[in-house]
Amino acid sequence: MQASLNVFVLLVFMATISSILLILYSIRQRAVEKSYFLIFLSGTTFLYTFGYLLEILSPTLEAAFYGVRMQYMGLPLILPICYLFVRDIHGEKRFKVPKLFLLFTVPVLSILSMQAYPLLRIYYTHIEYISNHYIANCRIYPGPLYHLYTAYSYLLFFLILWLILKHLKGSGRLKRRQSFILLAACLIPVICSIPYVLSAAKLRYDFTPIGNAVSMALLLYAVRYHNLISVVPLARAQVIEAMEDAFIVCDNDLNFLDANRAAKRLFPEMNLLMPGEAMKGAERFQNEAELCIQTDGESRIYKLTQTRILQGSKSSGVCIVLHDITEKEKLLEKLHIQASFDPLLGIYNRGAFFRFANLMLGARDAEDRSYALLMIDLDFFKQVNDTYGHLAGDTVLKTVSGIVKENFRKDDVIGRYGGEEIVVLLENVSPDRGFDAAEKLREMIENTPVSHQGSTINITVSIGVAYSPSGEVHSLEDMLAQADLALYKAKNNGRNRMWPSQEGENGYA
Ligand code: GH3
Ligand code: MG
Ligand code: MG
Repeated sequence: MQASLNVFVLLVFMATISSILLILYSIRQRAVEKSYFLIFLSGTTFLYTFGYLLEILSPTLEAAFYGVRMQYMGLPLILPICYLFVRDIHGEKRFKVPKLFLLFTVPVLSILSMQAYPLLRIYYTHIEYISNHYIANCRIYPGPLYHLYTAYSYLLFFLILWLILKHLKGSGRLKRRQSFILLAACLIPVICSIPYVLSAAKLRYDFTPIGNAVSMALLLYAVRYHNLISVVPLARAQVIEAMEDAFIVCDNDLNFLDANRAAKRLFPEMNLLMPGEAMKGAERFQNEAELCIQTDGESRIYKLTQTRILQGSKSSGVCIVLHDITEKEKLLEKLHIQASFDPLLGIYNRGAFFRFANLMLGARDAEDRSYALLMIDLDFFKQVNDTYGHLAGDTVLKTVSGIVKENFRKDDVIGRYGGEEIVVLLENVSPDRGFDAAEKLREMIENTPVSHQGSTINITVSIGVAYSPSGEVHSLEDMLAQADLALYKAKNNGRNRMWPSQEGENGYA
């Protein structure tokens, strides 16, 4: 052996040993998603470094060329595998067979034509053996395919770089850290190859195999400690991107960091924001529980959820999720309406009447207002049912409630108190206006005969009116009791009349 051991040889030797360890390590990591890339990469790195070690230690041209052959079993495959690996990590679409074939054409041709030397002299035209006191080299004279291979390698290298840089923009912190490690892993072998490429010396020291082993170690480090190929961060990113909910990541000062597609659709200005830039109106995200946002000409309601992003015990930002609850709200409103209204008469049912009437009487300034309560009961309604049937009775009831609804304001509370009893709570009325309103209603009902299957049904109502003047605490129960009593008096005094609850007043028809 002509070459004696020196530091360089020792380095290549260590790179070879590390690449063996890296193979073992990547096999151990085979449970990790896409670990086959690592096994391939560490395998090809080993062939490359070990081949180079053999070359620099070789005593003859044959032995040196044997080393070169070994290098070429791995070297041309490193960059295409690397390219596929980087594509995969970034969730790019997988290549189908024709594209894979294209990707590996030049490397495989290079391997075959190189191995075919000296039968074929298209990769190398000529080789010779040189050595100094320390290392040996198989000096090569490149053929056309060698140049093609070199150009192709640079092309792949730049494609990988472009891919990493493309995904660096706008990605989260973890992804950025991963991308920097990938970038370093890509650049180290290239930087290591510069002295070799630029050297004009006949016998050259090539640091590329050492660089390759370092890169491989870096990749495995990223896999182990930065989830490089764990599917979880990628899956999370993809799920978040595909979410219908708007997802926004901000820093602690509510500056924009990231947003998914749905968020950018909702807030188009986010398409132009760079990480760290201020978001217009960001404080609403923090202060409101629900947001009403105008989109495509209709306003939709979004429920806001905030989650602090904790690193240890320190907050490093906040995730905001906007969930569209418009349909749910509409449904709730519909259910609420259904639960509050009497389906036959289209006025509040008894429960809703109590709720809304109590709300009205319990309002902060209710004491400054006066209230009138009308209790309306159909006269001899049982006879209507008995004579014309229940359906006719229903029509009569609907007619009466229709007249009641027409006669009062939107703010008055109208409800079905019992079977054929309707109550109305009027706000801010003088006693006279309350009594007049009741009397007008009575008259209208009297003058509105109902037609049913050819018959004309004349109806009348009796109305008891309770009045609660301003300056008093108003009680719905008291007013109802008074109106009920007044109604009883109206009935007893001949029906078809309005009866005020005030003492001394006489009902009038
Ligand atoms: P009065 O003048 O004393 O009020 O006589 P009335 O017949 O109206 O009194 P009563 O309370 O005895 O009868 C009320 C009737 O109303 C009894 C019930 O069958 C009828 N009724 C209650 N709810 C409905 C309804 O939704 N539809 C129909 N058709 N009838 C109803
Ligand atoms: Mg009745
Ligand atoms: Mg009754």
